[in-house]
Amino acid sequence: MKKDKLSILILPRSGKVKKFYIPYSLPKYIGIVAVVIAIIIFAYQSFLKIKKDSLERENKVKEEAISVLETEISEKDSKIKNYEEDGNNLKEEVFKKMEELDRIKEDLEKLGDIPPDGKGGEGVSFDFEHANPKEELLALSEILDNKIIEMEGFLNKADERFEYLSRIPDIFPASGRISSGFGIRRNPFGRGFEFHKGIDIADCQGAEIIAAAKGKVILSEYYGTYGNCIIIDHGNGLKTVYGHNSKNLVNVGATINKGDVIGEIGSTGRSSGPHLHFEIRVNDEQVDPLKYLK
Ligand SMILES: [Zn+2]
Repeated sequence: MKKDKLSILILPRSGKVKKFYIPYSLPKYIGIVAVVIAIIIFAYQSFLKIKKDSLERENKVKEEAISVLETEISEKDSKIKNYEEDGNNLKEEVFKKMEELDRIKEDLEKLGDIPPDGKGGEGVSFDFEHANPKEELLALSEILDNKIIEMEGFLNKADERFEYLSRIPDIFPASGRISSGFGIRRNPFGRGFEFHKGIDIADCQGAEIIAAAKGKVILSEYYGTYGNCIIIDHGNGLKTVYGHNSKNLVNVGATINKGDVIGEIGSTGRSSGPHLHFEIRVNDEQVDPLKYLK
């Protein structure tokens, strides 16, 4: 028997006895190998667990980041949608206002008998369907700028026109009946005929006399046969004369608007009863007032 080996005998019920020899140190080695394997397995499992935890943490962070991004994207989407809606509303509002402006312009043209300049309601050549919001805004701003220039030009023209019209004596200066017209008539104070240089409007003493147009008072005093008289200069060679007044209510130098009350009807001067003697003078020549009055 070998001293450094361990004998293992196998004794079957019948047959030959089998004998094995294994070294004494073998179980010790097997034990060491088992411990090493166990350590490796434990280390590997620990590594796997650490790896798994780390991945899970990483995933969680990523999920949170994705969720934050999704929220931001959704907020931005809704902001973009709002901007688009605002942009569309703005666009519609701008076009609506421009149409309103065109209508007002047309009304003013009719009212002031201003020849149309043909610019109103001009078609917009910009293709809004295929433009991005920035291009749309730029185009809108350009359209508005052009509209403003057009309207400023028109308003200046309209201002001039209405200023001109306001200085045309076309409203009756008193509300009574016309008792004597312009032209040759029988002399009311004697025999024969005379040239009547205005119209007479008969009304009761103290009734209102109004200015037939805008202008500046150049005379307001007792003026011979005219009695208490007012003369207004309307510019462009036009003047109006209001005579036989019981009262003059305006002073020389005053600017009078069409329709302002300037005096009261009377019978001062060469007059046979309360009436307004009214003249229109063009370049200091009397003309028939009924050609102007509406
Ligand atoms: Zn008269």
